[in-house]
Amino acid sequence: MLERYTTTFLEGFGGYGRYLLDDIIHPSWHSYFYGLILVSVAVYGLELAFPWRKRQPRIRKDFWLDGFYMFFNFFLFSLVGYNSMSNVAVEAFADLRAALGIESLVVVNVAALPVAAQLGVMFVFRDFIQYWVHRLLHRVPRLWAFHKVHHSVTQMGFAAHLRSPWMETVVYRVLEYIPLAMIGFGIQEFFTIYMIAIVIGHINHANFRPPIGPLRYILNSPQMHIWHHAKTLPVRYGANYGLSLSVWDWIFGTVHWPHSGRDIPLGFAQVDQYPDHFLPQMVVPFREDLG
Ligand SMILES: [Zn+2]
Ligand SMILES: [Zn+2]
Repeated sequence: MLERYTTTFLEGFGGYGRYLLDDIIHPSWHSYFYGLILVSVAVYGLELAFPWRKRQPRIRKDFWLDGFYMFFNFFLFSLVGYNSMSNVAVEAFADLRAALGIESLVVVNVAALPVAAQLGVMFVFRDFIQYWVHRLLHRVPRLWAFHKVHHSVTQMGFAAHLRSPWMETVVYRVLEYIPLAMIGFGIQEFFTIYMIAIVIGHINHANFRPPIGPLRYILNSPQMHIWHHAKTLPVRYGANYGLSLSVWDWIFGTVHWPHSGRDIPLGFAQVDQYPDHFLPQMVVPFREDLG
């Protein structure tokens, strides 16, 4: 069994490398590489054309750092090991299930629904799980040490969306895995849902103010998410945790949106002493004194 896991682990590197190369060489409508570039250029275009904070530089503080985070979290992290690790984890989990005699995890099979309804259910369900994972990231000191990297943004722009350390990606994927498997979430649907979430996440961090109106009770927005990044909040563990949807915050009473947050200070106490380069930001969560 160990040998099989080792093979899966090693094959995961080459497998992902070949996949990424193919994705770059042969552009398609399911390309994560070109998808990310297209979405980023479009949202950056909105920032340039309709800036919310007009005095914020077009190339804001940490623009390039966050650009690197985007490509790291999307591709490089998978290339340097995440793909291999997750393949082994999925295989080990399937073995465990077989050993326990559980044939399938699927409790409610959404695959029986029409495609549009499937995508809708999966999108909302995944966002609901992510809302709770995000709350956990703020509540558990060890997880907060990781998530602090995302909150070290002091000048907001679209690419800040994907500033997060690799451990945070692992926490989300691990905690999402079983609930999504329970509704028969297939990999082929993942692209669409993932990309919609990326578009919304980019916009939520953009220096842009969409005319959201009453939709604010359903959708998250830059106006609302900026308060999630506020340097000081009257509540201890944060507010406005929703990722794509704001509805969970309204339902569970975690909204904090007192006035326009356009120019509020961002980050956390002592954010000015936090490292502002990629490698130190990868190391610091492990060293942080959780006192
Ligand atoms: Zn957060
Ligand atoms: Zn954020």
